[in-house]
Amino acid sequence: MLRAAGLLVAALAGAAAARGAVAADDACALDLPTASTQGALVVARVDPRCRVDYAGRALRIADDGAFVFGLGRDAHAMAALTVRDPAGHAYTRTLAVAPREWRVEKVDGVPQSTVTPAPDIAARIALEQARVAQARQRDDAREDFRFGFARPAKGRISGVYGSQRILNGTPKDPHFGLDIAAAAGTPAIAPAAGIVSFADPALYLTGGTVVIDHGHGLSSTFIHLSRVDVDVGQRIEQGQRFGAIGMTGRASGPHLHWGMNWFDVRLDPGLVVQPPP
Ligand SMILES: [Zn+2]
Repeated sequence: MLRAAGLLVAALAGAAAARGAVAADDACALDLPTASTQGALVVARVDPRCRVDYAGRALRIADDGAFVFGLGRDAHAMAALTVRDPAGHAYTRTLAVAPREWRVEKVDGVPQSTVTPAPDIAARIALEQARVAQARQRDDAREDFRFGFARPAKGRISGVYGSQRILNGTPKDPHFGLDIAAAAGTPAIAPAAGIVSFADPALYLTGGTVVIDHGHGLSSTFIHLSRVDVDVGQRIEQGQRFGAIGMTGRASGPHLHWGMNWFDVRLDPGLVVQPPP
């Protein structure tokens, strides 16, 4: 717990150090990093009496002014925030977003039935994905994310965020997560505290699936679990076991897939996780 607590604290301190560069008309004392990157979680701070909008959403501001938002895999080179001071004056602040290179792999000769699911299966997948998407809309005032993120399992990193496969010429959805390969039955532990907002042992594509909500729209999704040991609504602490690694659903081998979201924006867990001890 203590080891993982430093990351976002350090990010907040870094934002505070940049305060000297704030423009004179910035009545809201917005501390925004000078730059970020695609897939990143951005941690910033503002006078809590002010309002900040990003991507059509009024951001939740903590009592001390801390707030977060996420940049998607394909985020544009500049992210714009609209800030309104208590007097109602609005201004725009921008954040440079560095592009990243994504690994793209072309695979041909794949049987077409594995590329395009049958209509009844496709309908089931769509329903299940809508349930998970609904869980990710939660916007709680809890600030569990502020204690940092620890690795949710021991094991080798076997897949990274953003990579993409092109099967028989058709680009598939990019890989939106971090894969940790480990034997089936290896404990899966919460990278940060939160509330379990989704738990199902048997979805079609993702098998045993758990979503942990960390507050302010940030959530972690874990899939392919061989065991689900938590229930929806349950409080879980950082480091607490919530299930076991497996290869349920569509998986080529036992691994823990960890996805991170800011609402429906998929972030790169590899950018926030603490290094292994
Ligand atoms: Zn994965």
